[in-house]
Amino acid sequence: MFFGGEPLSNLPLIKQVVTYAEQRFAGLGRTVDFSLTTNATLLNEKTVDYLNDHNIGIAVSIDGPPAYHDRNRITVGGRGTYDLVAEKVKLLKARYSARPVGARVTLTRGITDIEAIWDHLFNTLGFHEVGFAPVTAGDVASYNLSGDELATVFANMKRLGEKYLEAALDNRSIGFSNMHQLLTDIHEGTRKVLPCGAGVGMVAVDHAGGIDLCHRFSGSDMPHFGEVNKGLDKTGLNQFLNQRLEQRNLGCNSCQIRNLCAGGCYHESYARYNDPLKPTWHYCELLRDWVDFGIYTYTQILAKNPGFFARYLSPRRAHYETSQSA
Ligand code: SF4
Repeated sequence: MFFGGEPLSNLPLIKQVVTYAEQRFAGLGRTVDFSLTTNATLLNEKTVDYLNDHNIGIAVSIDGPPAYHDRNRITVGGRGTYDLVAEKVKLLKARYSARPVGARVTLTRGITDIEAIWDHLFNTLGFHEVGFAPVTAGDVASYNLSGDELATVFANMKRLGEKYLEAALDNRSIGFSNMHQLLTDIHEGTRKVLPCGAGVGMVAVDHAGGIDLCHRFSGSDMPHFGEVNKGLDKTGLNQFLNQRLEQRNLGCNSCQIRNLCAGGCYHESYARYNDPLKPTWHYCELLRDWVDFGIYTYTQILAKNPGFFARYLSPRRAHYETSQSA
């Protein structure tokens, strides 16, 4: 997964990694999968063709219509990048056919209008899916959503979720990634003991080769779990994961959503409590309410249009999920 800063600022390295990994995995008789999350500004015809030829999944970082996108996504000279990104999205639509392209929206302070953002990205720009990532524990505190704003974000996610349900009963998808993901977990009976794949099926490698739990820790003060040239610190990683399991067992074992939340994001806890081992107990109620809403939505679809899952959720995992999960 090629993930920012902006990965396309070092396209030669991406090509080197892709060539190496394709050859190495082919030699092992295995397949390898790539995805890229990009702000799209550096895309050109040649690069799009390269991504297409190598079946590299793409998610575009875009925060909605210009009034929202241009608040934070600006050039070094201070100009909004919406117009440029919208042009590049057209380029992608014209030349890239390897996989469906998703939009990844970062919700920062003052931006909670989920429905308007989804409408613009799905209906006007034509993204296949739109996923929302609320910023609550970013490095720059002034970008973080306030507690009230986060509650509004969840309320608005539920409003878009109602639209999702209406469409699902009509056998249509409105490409709301967060809802897709939640329903997939419920449908597949996901039972997490750890909150995500960080440190288990995924690590992040920073620009200098340091290995971190995930991209959110790259650049933080948390010590690395090894280095690319020296190898992964498996002992340290195992210790960390075991300690987290013990912490979780202390406080989450009676929670009804423990199999889906599993104590919440490590980095969220790190930013909030300076302790990645601590579960994210500061927004449990919001999460429980969101999962309850997901269960309600799931049961409605299951009762009235069960074919929706096979048509829209199962195929998605194969070609789409990796680029959105970043
Ligand atoms: S919602 Fe809270 S109590 Fe429940 S599993 Fe998540 S962090 Fe633990």
